[in-house]
Amino acid sequence: MLDIDGRRAYFFGLEFWPQEIYFLAGLLIFVAVALFLATALLGRVYCGFTCPQTMWTDLFMSVGRLIEGDRNRRLKLKNAPLSLEKITKKALKHFIWLVISFFTAFTFVLYFNEAPAAAADILAGRVGPWANAAVVLLTLSTYLFAGWLREQICIYMCPWLRFQVAMFDEDSLIVTYEEWRGEPRGKAKIGQSFDGRGHCVNCNNCVLVCPTGVDIRKGQQVACIGCALCIDACDSIMDKFNLPRGLIAYDSEDNQVARAKERPAKIRLWRVRTFAYGAILLLIAAFIAYNLALRENLEINVQADRAPYFVTLTDGRIRSGYTFKVVNKQRKPRTFVLSLRGVEGAVMRVIGHGGDDAASVELDVGADKVGAFRVFIKADPKKLSGKSALIVFALKDKESGETFRHNAMLHGPGRKTP
Ligand code: SF4
Ligand code: SF4
Repeated sequence: MLDIDGRRAYFFGLEFWPQEIYFLAGLLIFVAVALFLATALLGRVYCGFTCPQTMWTDLFMSVGRLIEGDRNRRLKLKNAPLSLEKITKKALKHFIWLVISFFTAFTFVLYFNEAPAAAADILAGRVGPWANAAVVLLTLSTYLFAGWLREQICIYMCPWLRFQVAMFDEDSLIVTYEEWRGEPRGKAKIGQSFDGRGHCVNCNNCVLVCPTGVDIRKGQQVACIGCALCIDACDSIMDKFNLPRGLIAYDSEDNQVARAKERPAKIRLWRVRTFAYGAILLLIAAFIAYNLALRENLEINVQADRAPYFVTLTDGRIRSGYTFKVVNKQRKPRTFVLSLRGVEGAVMRVIGHGGDDAASVELDVGADKVGAFRVFIKADPKKLSGKSALIVFALKDKESGETFRHNAMLHGPGRKTP
């Protein structure tokens, strides 16, 4: 769930703050490289088997088949004059398409809101204009994309199609027509001999089932989304003619050449490219897992004043200002004790929290809140190891006793203000 108002993201039991956006970046890079790997191995499997546009188009087409029948019946109904049966079937189909579209939009909106409450609010019409606009827009776009535009989205609008063409190589397994076996093609009768001719019986079934209207026998085309429907269609024809399946099959370009020359064909899944993608995936996964494991329930941010770095007091000590922020990621208020380490005799004043020259100060931070404090540190410049010295902000959780540290620089005489 992405809670935009509360500025949080939730992934099962994990809660992410805006400061942890790098997890989202890591996840997106992981998914992108996984797509590269899948494409290098198996061509456009993403488009054919997981892309929402393909899935929703399939679903809408299934509804059409259920109500209007197979392709021949649908064509007959389309060309038939207006009748009660035609109006009823068409109206029912479009109504179900709209219901599916509405639930798609509804589900999408729930990714941005606390689902059970938001679901009740949407159904009761108690939501604001943005949620209503999102539901209406997404309902209409789903209905339009999956019901009407279908493969036009893949062919003319999808940028992924253009990338993918560059990701294949001669060893990628893609949907291919085994031309060496199919040609010369021609009509055939069941039981006839196929000696001296190809196995393609020119039935055109592979073209009829293709959602993007591709004739795979003409070779690879950008419009082919790798859905493999033509493989199933052709296999059923091969079965009827008692011929081996696989006239259209997942195969590599290299294998096709090898088979045509009657050389042994072999599938090479692991190549330099796929190893490289696999290694990058492992690295990203390790990075995410490592950072998740080291996640703390608190974050400290210290920003030193830069103009000036310090001022010299009448007693000879220097004083530097800092903005000190504590991100309490727990869902309960916490009290901390702030102290300084690293520079002998350094004391502080936290505006609004206690008096001057304190060795430690108690700070309260609300549940799930960021506490921001102005801290002024005073120190004897002779105690600094150089022009600047490392000073440690040590923050101890009073309840758990856990101590968090953050390093900052304390600048002294000799260090020029930029
Ligand atoms: S389905 Fe198979 S046999 Fe029929 S036209 Fe296509 S490739 Fe040829
Ligand atoms: S050619 Fe085959 S795999 Fe490609 S889109 Fe058409 S049916 Fe799907």
